[in-house]
Amino acid sequence: MLGGARRRARAGFLAAVGVTLAAPVERAARRSAARAGVALVYHRVGDPPGDFSRELLPALGSRLFAEQVRYLSARYRLVPASRLIDAAAERRAGEPFPVAITFDDDLRSHAETAAPILVRAEAPATFFLTGASLRRPHRFWWERLQEARDRDLDLRPLGIGSARGDIHVLGRAVEALPARRRDELHATLGRLVGPDPGNAGLRAEHVAALVADGFEVGFHTRRHHPLPGLAAAELDAAMAEGRAELEEVAGGRLTTIAYPHGRADGRVAAAARAAGFIAGFTGSPGPVTPASDPLLLCRVSPSYASVGELAVDVALAVRSAMSR
Ligand SMILES: [Zn+2]
Repeated sequence: MLGGARRRARAGFLAAVGVTLAAPVERAARRSAARAGVALVYHRVGDPPGDFSRELLPALGSRLFAEQVRYLSARYRLVPASRLIDAAAERRAGEPFPVAITFDDDLRSHAETAAPILVRAEAPATFFLTGASLRRPHRFWWERLQEARDRDLDLRPLGIGSARGDIHVLGRAVEALPARRRDELHATLGRLVGPDPGNAGLRAEHVAALVADGFEVGFHTRRHHPLPGLAAAELDAAMAEGRAELEEVAGGRLTTIAYPHGRADGRVAAAARAAGFIAGFTGSPGPVTPASDPLLLCRVSPSYASVGELAVDVALAVRSAMSR
């Protein structure tokens, strides 16, 4: 991970010249017969754009998102996540590389902001959902924590450290808790900040509308715990809990999964495979190739700053697959 200052310098430079720098890299890769693709992981899209320095999960501005989708549509072949590894295997020299646009978490902005932009661009995408808000408003612990922090509430009852510290440090502390402690903290946060707003999450009708628009729905597990830390029985339960309910709303079997917090290992992949998933996505950056474990596929985080930075990150991921 780059330090903050270096990351900002890179982002500023690539915002200016990234598209120009990426073009020859992508063109050279396209001439090759490299069999590769790239999955991208988006979260919240909305306005005003957020700020990483004080937000756990900032919004990516809608105008930048639309520009990124336009760029990707022009240079790459957009496919649903379930098709990515096959599309990479089928690719021939001269053809564009396949890219899968994916979203994690049940966020209202998926339906209200991201989906209309994707529909206008005729771009396929995959939404990895927990189903936690199908019937009622639901916010994730990090959304409640963000509100508590924004309102400067006393966070000492949470027992995870100072209210004044870096919010990302607090977030990592919560992520590292045992599952039961994190569930308790979610409840405590609920008492601190009050009920989740009526527009929190995706109701069944929003998920049905995404499917009606042709988007793919995948699973993100109902409780969103980091899976590598779970005991065997909890891990199997995470693969099953809430899945049937979401499948009923989505109108079909969920065959793809994105692991919460992008975290998985061989044991998690084996549990996902045993549960009938055919593709599983992590948060590790890198390309997807026919040699990838289908249950441990990499995903690249798109730039929150520019099209240029995204262009370079995707082109470099594709090029890295050529040397493998
Ligand atoms: Zn998530």
